[in-house]
Amino acid sequence: MNDHTPTKPSRRGLLKLGLAAGGAAVTGSGALAGAAPQPQAPTRSAAVVTGRRFKGWVSRGSGPARTTLEELTLRPIAGRQVLVRTEATNLCYSNTGVVLGLPPVLGPGPGGPPPAAGTAARPAAPPAGGFGRLNAMALIQGHGGVGVVEAVGPEVRRVQVGDRVCVSGTPHCGACYQCLRGRSDMCQFLGRQGPDDLVAMADMRDGTPVYANSHIGGLAEVMVTFEEWVVPVFTKAPAVDLGMVCSCVAVAGLGATTSQGTGILRPGSSVAVVGCGPLGLSAVQGARISGASAIIAIDPIRARRELALKVGATHALDPNVEGDALVAKVRELTKGPNDRLWAGGRDAGGLLGGAGADFVVEAVGADAAAPRAERGPDPTGILPLRQAYEMCAAGGDIVTTSLPRGNITLPAVLFTIGGRTHHAGQAGGCSPMRDIPRFVAMLDSGQYDAKALATTVVPIERMREAYEEVVYRTTATAIMTA
Ligand SMILES: [Zn+2]
Ligand SMILES: [Zn+2]
Repeated sequence: MNDHTPTKPSRRGLLKLGLAAGGAAVTGSGALAGAAPQPQAPTRSAAVVTGRRFKGWVSRGSGPARTTLEELTLRPIAGRQVLVRTEATNLCYSNTGVVLGLPPVLGPGPGGPPPAAGTAARPAAPPAGGFGRLNAMALIQGHGGVGVVEAVGPEVRRVQVGDRVCVSGTPHCGACYQCLRGRSDMCQFLGRQGPDDLVAMADMRDGTPVYANSHIGGLAEVMVTFEEWVVPVFTKAPAVDLGMVCSCVAVAGLGATTSQGTGILRPGSSVAVVGCGPLGLSAVQGARISGASAIIAIDPIRARRELALKVGATHALDPNVEGDALVAKVRELTKGPNDRLWAGGRDAGGLLGGAGADFVVEAVGADAAAPRAERGPDPTGILPLRQAYEMCAAGGDIVTTSLPRGNITLPAVLFTIGGRTHHAGQAGGCSPMRDIPRFVAMLDSGQYDAKALATTVVPIERMREAYEEVVYRTTATAIMTA
């Protein structure tokens, strides 16, 4: 980390290096760099860091040994690129397959129901097209992190050297079709992460070019990203806490429950959170912060239910214990004091079933490996997804956030005229530039408990063992510091 001393090149040297950097970006570019605005008069000097060495976990090929810790040499940055010294990064569960090179898990867990017709777990399709090529490239995984800006390309306006930033899993350009219509959770830069979009940001000792997955590459001492992915956060919060609240999972959980992007969680509402990993546990906290009256946390793992109760849940249910009665149990807990229709009472009966949680967050998803902690009722994540829909009250909102495997079957009448509003919650529907500073304010004011969720904290060298805790679900979340 410390073997590089930034030099102050002469004006002539800067121009020369700037040209070289620009050339590198163009030759390594695809759609993302191609979509970049034409260079304008630089507002600050060209940012060039040459020869900087750093450590990063590089993934390529297949099998459990596909990710190794390497010493890398940084390439010059240019255009809208931002160089960030990593402080902390969350080890996201969705990344486990590519980091640890684990084979896919098939079929339901012991005691679970047989897969419903059309939802049978199937082997993951072999990597094809872009994914196959990505597998062969030397990639630094990790799609988020927090750190300090070390250098910016000449076109960057959003951040300055020395700023603390969240490198957001969801970009926010502010100018694409989706951002302009108020849906930055769907920012179209999100789709510019294929093999042709990535730009080599470093080299291995043997000269192999290294790329940052998702334009982020959090599993390294530095991240090279683009302006669209960084959100400045002006806080003195400890790195681990900031890494937790700025993680993709916390952003999605808090986004689902406190942002204006999805259904509005009104104070006094009853809330069910299905799945209490770091995303669900952040949703529990968001529901508490939004003033929910009842927060029902549902998870098969005892430690996670206990954590949910600690951070704000009023009830905790084990889906393995409740079985087929889980939905009925949630309706029972949320039915209100009586069914006097003339006095605001709630009727649990009828075709459309009035009772249930006013607001449901689903955060389960498919297993990437068989858990060593308690297993859930369905490793594909389909059953809890359907239950989440069914436990929602007529007129309520459901935000889904997971990565399940298969297809879902829903009661059609409930779906067509049941008054439930479904929000497909990529990043919980949040708008990164608007919402992430708000989430950091929740941390700084003590409303969001990051320490309770970051149950494993490791330095970069111990990334692998921490990721194994994540994939086997023996920890709630792991944060890697660099
Ligand atoms: Zn993630
Ligand atoms: Zn956009």
